[in-house]
Amino acid sequence: MARQFFVGGNFKMNGTKESLTSIIDNLNKAELPSNVEVVIAPPAPYLGLAVTENKQKTVAISAQNVFNKASGAYTGEISPTQLKDLGVHWTLTGHSERRTIIKESDEFIAEKTKFALDNGVSVILCIGETLEERKSGVTLEVTARQLDAVSKIVSDWTNIVIAYEPVWAIGTGLAATSEDAQETHKGIRDHLVKTIGAEQAAKVRILYGGSVNGKNAPDFKDKADVDGFLVGGASLKPEFVDIIKSRL
Ligand code: PGA
Repeated sequence: MARQFFVGGNFKMNGTKESLTSIIDNLNKAELPSNVEVVIAPPAPYLGLAVTENKQKTVAISAQNVFNKASGAYTGEISPTQLKDLGVHWTLTGHSERRTIIKESDEFIAEKTKFALDNGVSVILCIGETLEERKSGVTLEVTARQLDAVSKIVSDWTNIVIAYEPVWAIGTGLAATSEDAQETHKGIRDHLVKTIGAEQAAKVRILYGGSVNGKNAPDFKDKADVDGFLVGGASLKPEFVDIIKSRL
């Protein structure tokens, strides 16, 4: 089962009009492979700018977060219908920074994921364990719990991409080894076989995220269940293009 290689860029709360325009301009000038799906997630205030500036057909724009209501008295929130109105057809949900800093629960993340999908916005669903959880050997239990909250209320996973991001690897410069990532990705896929069925589990893409850069991206090349990357820090740098090309 060939799954299309996917590279996401999560800019987090970084950038200005000027710097983000230059990052997108750099992507516009690059010769990107036509068979790699690329999605970049700038901060919300710059989503419109990113949609306007992006000239690459294989690059789509994503939000970093979304709410589970269409409109109304929800100060500070952004609805999937508003995203679509802007030309934004993707969102992240469940990033560990939102799980840990903003204290979003598995259930809330699942509701937002479902609402985005129901409204035609595709989702990069982020999951992953903390260092303590890793040390106690419960990685796959944690990722299963995070996934089960979603599979309980979402049956069609066609428009979901999973990003496995061990919290201890995010922004630390300490990426998981490709062997460790493969082992966990395989465990995640095996779990999905049980919950969403073998057919969907074989199709869903599982990205690795956590200190991916231009140098280490090729290490994951031959790992059967690593279908791409979600990149934070390095997505703001020219080496993001090397990551996109790392499977050539
Ligand atoms: P990093 O972040 O690449 O800077 O480690 C990854 C992420 O948080 O998505």
